[in-house]
Amino acid sequence: MTGQVVVVGSANVDLVVDVPRHPGGGETILGGDLRRTPGGKGANSAVAAARAGGAETTFVGALGRDESAELLLASLERAGVRTDLVSRVDAPTGTALITVSPDGENAIVVAPGANARLELTAAQVERIAHADVVLAQLEIPLDMVRAAAAARRPGARMVLNAAPSQDLPGDVWDALDLLIVNEYEAADLAHTQAAPEELAAALLERVPAVVITLGAEGSLVAQRDREPVRVPGVKVDAVDTTGAGDTFCGVLAAGLARGLDLAGAARLAGAAAALAVTRPGAQDAVPTAAEVEESAK
Ligand code: ADP
Repeated sequence: MTGQVVVVGSANVDLVVDVPRHPGGGETILGGDLRRTPGGKGANSAVAAARAGGAETTFVGALGRDESAELLLASLERAGVRTDLVSRVDAPTGTALITVSPDGENAIVVAPGANARLELTAAQVERIAHADVVLAQLEIPLDMVRAAAAARRPGARMVLNAAPSQDLPGDVWDALDLLIVNEYEAADLAHTQAAPEELAAALLERVPAVVITLGAEGSLVAQRDREPVRVPGVKVDAVDTTGAGDTFCGVLAAGLARGLDLAGAARLAGAAAALAVTRPGAQDAVPTAAEVEESAK
């Protein structure tokens, strides 16, 4: 293990149904059998970072005291994520209601539950202070993103996957070393619709480095005072894109923690995320480093 990753974020149980198409307002449609699987942006990314190897990964988040919490802890631990500092609170574990259409597109509603109650403890702050890379998303209170950024040591990197989309206050922008967003989130944050290169240029005015994920097209890596780099997508048959972005972020964080440069880490992250979309589920779909290596042959 050459680096330390701490993921500060959400854990949700995903309730997933395959549907012929996504229902509109006021509409009821019949779907397939219900699946109950571990998810949540934070936990998914932690699993991805751990499976990527080369870094020790801790998950910092809040779970309820219910059966869903046990499902999530088991999944994190199976992947090799450290769960010793996970908080347990008096609220239901976060739950996501997900429909997946035949083309692999998903529609998601999240009931935050315990995730909204996350309050960093002294022990969690201490673990964050030892991390090389701190990764957060926006399914937890924004104050916890602030607290995580404030706790990191000099030289460590604060990475925010700004999802689900929401505007960021100035002090949060100032606390970031790297922003990871998909095209829609990039357009929301830049307050304009434009090509990825233009969106990245606008976002670089707020943050030193940006990665914009482009679905099947791969990603764009942009850093101040450097030419942006397009990392091409890996061609696969998409089955379920749930958690693709989370896998990307987790593997990228692990890559940075073990010393890869940003473009190298994004390349590895894209290969892992592409493999993840060929399998159903979020955490269950995340490949190991060996599987990613094998697929690249
Ligand atoms: P999000 O899941 O957050 O909306 P994207 O759709 O951009 O984000 O996917 C994140 C990453 O997952 C992409 O940068 C890419 O590396 C990979 N990915 C997603 N969809 C596909 C796909 N259909 N084929 C290959 N790779 C994909």
